[in-house]
Amino acid sequence: MRSAALSYAEFSEPHFLEACTLCSKPLGNNSDIFMYRGNTPYCSQECRQEQIESDEARERRWKVSSSSSSSKKSTETSKKPATAVQTGTLVASN
Ligand SMILES: [Zn+2]
Repeated sequence: MRSAALSYAEFSEPHFLEACTLCSKPLGNNSDIFMYRGNTPYCSQECRQEQIESDEARERRWKVSSSSSSSKKSTETSKKPATAVQTGTLVASN
């Protein structure tokens, strides 16, 4: 009974704790595990730090891309009169 409870506790450990999220290095029982955002494990502080930095860079890029999407809208609106001009040219050449 006791061993069954023990194996159950082992089994209930999430699978994502088995390897480093960044470099996929296996995380053994004796190796340190560095957690990030509650559920992502890393084999070292360096791996975790790299993930944090890439996350911050992604967030910054997302903000930049979301602001550039507003400039996309202005390109779309400027496209409409260009199509009208093309149709007008077609009619004129006929
Ligand atoms: Zn790692």
